[in-house]
Amino acid sequence: MVNSSSFFAPPNPADAENPAEQQELGQWVLASKTAVAIFNANDRLHFASPSFMQLYAVQPGPQTFHSIISHCFHQQVGPRIAPPLSQWLEQVQARRRTIPLRTFEIVMLDGRWMWGTEVAFANQWTMVQIIDFTAIKNKEFALQKAHDAALLAAKTDDLTGLPNRGAIIQRFHQLYEYSLGQSQPLTLAIIDLDHFKSVNDNFGHAMGDAVLRHFATQADTLIRAAGGVIGRSGGEEFLVVLPNSPTCCGQDLLEKLRIHLQKHPFSAAQSIIYYTFSSGLVSSTQLCSFEDLYKAADKALYTAKIRGRNQDCVSTPVKVNIQ
Ligand code: GH3
Ligand code: MG
Ligand code: MG
Repeated sequence: MVNSSSFFAPPNPADAENPAEQQELGQWVLASKTAVAIFNANDRLHFASPSFMQLYAVQPGPQTFHSIISHCFHQQVGPRIAPPLSQWLEQVQARRRTIPLRTFEIVMLDGRWMWGTEVAFANQWTMVQIIDFTAIKNKEFALQKAHDAALLAAKTDDLTGLPNRGAIIQRFHQLYEYSLGQSQPLTLAIIDLDHFKSVNDNFGHAMGDAVLRHFATQADTLIRAAGGVIGRSGGEEFLVVLPNSPTCCGQDLLEKLRIHLQKHPFSAAQSIIYYTFSSGLVSSTQLCSFEDLYKAADKALYTAKIRGRNQDCVSTPVKVNIQ
């Protein structure tokens, strides 16, 4: 059965018009690296090319699709078959012979990727062809990795590694919807480092950059632990989004950050730099669009700066005129 002499015994032997020609075609298939197998309507293996035999470690003697797969599974050879075997077989059998031409991927235990094509004939015979496309698959993985990295880079602030302006606004919208679903307010805070120009003037721009990174790391750790997110909206300004939180929670958290920065100032080889920040907070119970909340928080930030910096200011509720 499993040899070239019976190779092109077609699904219906009466169809064979020129057996010699068929035989020659069979030799061509054998010479190619494509793994080929033909199963009859009862799923008995009628023909298998040497590369198919090797790929599926086909044992001598009569075989069926079931016996080949069982052997692979139990001996841990050939394709990767997710246990339990019965479920795997059930799922695969449900797909076989369903359409005239079907393609599928096969992951081999040795890490290779195979591309399979199943041709189903009207009389339920089926021919499977399998080729190694590991090189293409690896290129696909590399492209996917590069795409993910590019996507991440587009959302990340280069200097601090925090989400950039676009990304933090996107997070705001997601967390706003989430808080709304929980019938809870969301707090938006703008943080602006105080007198940052003088940090640059006194210590140099590179040191200023290092201070921005220091702030980003310290703030990110604390805010993340509280279930919030922080992003750099530009310069020495940051945006904090706290889902499911009224402004008082935001104030507590930022106060904690202030105390933390006092205890753990930026320190480099020669210098310790103490720095502070001011912040303006607003809750989504007052306003709802990002633009309106941002404007209100910015106004509150301005007030915090005027009041002497190193402090919070919460946006005053907007009066709604009912006519
Ligand atoms: P205020 O308390 O009113 O906010 O004073 P300030 O000095 O922080 O504010 P101002 O807007 O006058 O200056 C902001 C400074 O932040 C000036 C700018 O050079 C510096 N800055 C903005 N982005 C960066 C950066 O990426 N790296 C460094 N080193 N400095 C930056
Ligand atoms: Mg600023
Ligand atoms: Mg500033």
